[in-house]
Amino acid sequence: MTTLQEMYASLDIDAQVLAFGEHILENLKDRFAAIDETAEYNQLKVIRAMQKARVSEACLLGTTGYGYNDIGRDTLEEVYANLFHAEDALVRPQITCGTHALALALMSNLRPGDELLSPVGKPYDTLEEVIGIRDSKGSLKEYGVSYSQVDLLPDGSFDYDGIRAAIHEKTKLVTIQRSKGYEPRKTLSVERIGELISFIKSCKPDVLCMVDNCYGEFVERIEPVEVGADMVVGSLIKNPGGGLAPIGGYIVGKKECVENAAYRLTSPGLGKEVGASLGVLPAFYQGLFLAPTVTASALKGAIFAANIFETLGFSVVPNAKEDRFDIIQAITFGKPEAVISFCKGIQAAASVDSHLSPEPWDMPGYDAPVIMAAGAFVSGSSIELSADGPIKPPYAVYMQGGLTFPHAKFGMLKALQNLKNDGILTKEQCERMTF
Ligand SMILES: *Cc1c(COP(=O)(O)O)cnc(C)c1O
Repeated sequence: MTTLQEMYASLDIDAQVLAFGEHILENLKDRFAAIDETAEYNQLKVIRAMQKARVSEACLLGTTGYGYNDIGRDTLEEVYANLFHAEDALVRPQITCGTHALALALMSNLRPGDELLSPVGKPYDTLEEVIGIRDSKGSLKEYGVSYSQVDLLPDGSFDYDGIRAAIHEKTKLVTIQRSKGYEPRKTLSVERIGELISFIKSCKPDVLCMVDNCYGEFVERIEPVEVGADMVVGSLIKNPGGGLAPIGGYIVGKKECVENAAYRLTSPGLGKEVGASLGVLPAFYQGLFLAPTVTASALKGAIFAANIFETLGFSVVPNAKEDRFDIIQAITFGKPEAVISFCKGIQAAASVDSHLSPEPWDMPGYDAPVIMAAGAFVSGSSIELSADGPIKPPYAVYMQGGLTFPHAKFGMLKALQNLKNDGILTKEQCERMTF
């Protein structure tokens, strides 16, 4: 048994599903070549940033206890600053997740009486409790920081008049989420983020602009600091950890913003000076090194998914043809059993926990039961192939990740096979898979 067909058959992908997948891939060659070129560019960008910071073997060692003079940690922060064209960076395993990194950036740079503005609509679900949109202990609202929001216009463009009207003397910080998260809107390109920041600064030059960069890193050739962001924030168990970082978050940007975050993460007076790196530095460095090609694999997986499910008549965001600015693919199935069947298929394609079957549950921070498929080496890592969907209308699933394209491809075929086996695809949809 040495053919691909036989190998897929041994993993319960039938000939029809495989042939359909191959047919879809035939038409994606040019797009995949363009993605590879961006990955090449970004790979060189990472190497250049590491060389400039003179990363050495000693940087991989790590410290314990207080972590004074942790050369690996400090050099890695210099690498991140170089890479993102930022004045300074905070890259730490003590930042527990993306939400924590964002909360840290906000809480350390806002003071009682200040106002936070989101000019791009509702932020990511877990930030609702950080801000106090949903009442929560320790929220910004409890500390006297108010919040205002301007939604995008129905066509997805910025509501410039609304934003101008919402900015006043109390407005201290503006939060801009690059990725769509669980919202049906489009993801913002770095270029569009730049246009928005220019406009905001023209209304009020001293307002701080923060970008939630989750899922956006390395998808394009530029990052948000290059278009004027004061702070850019993300998670290391997404794109920049390259699948190897087992924990962590980052904040890059203006020196003063990063310092404020460091004093809040550790303590006033201590800041960046403490915080042992323990044993995580090799994974942080090597993960960053791999991140451009890993992100490219995830991007190809998302485009493959869009093309499969759009061909079958489902609504997909982004659609099969449009440009990509993050690695997330939304597929609207319209019924809960399809969301569940899709996620079970993704789980069944994993290397870890493929024998388990995910079920919807009430996750902390979310307002509806969520099903999550994640057979990951790093628990909860969403740069690894994963899918999740809140069990509420319009019954959409959000898939992302794939450390290698062959895995992302297998996952998508497995999800499709599961939908077919569960009788969720209509007769007409099954016919569309044959040509
Ligand atoms: C994932 C994500 C977050 C939160 O990150 P966690 O690590 O899940 O806490 C915030 N914003 C966006 C856009 C995200 O995708």
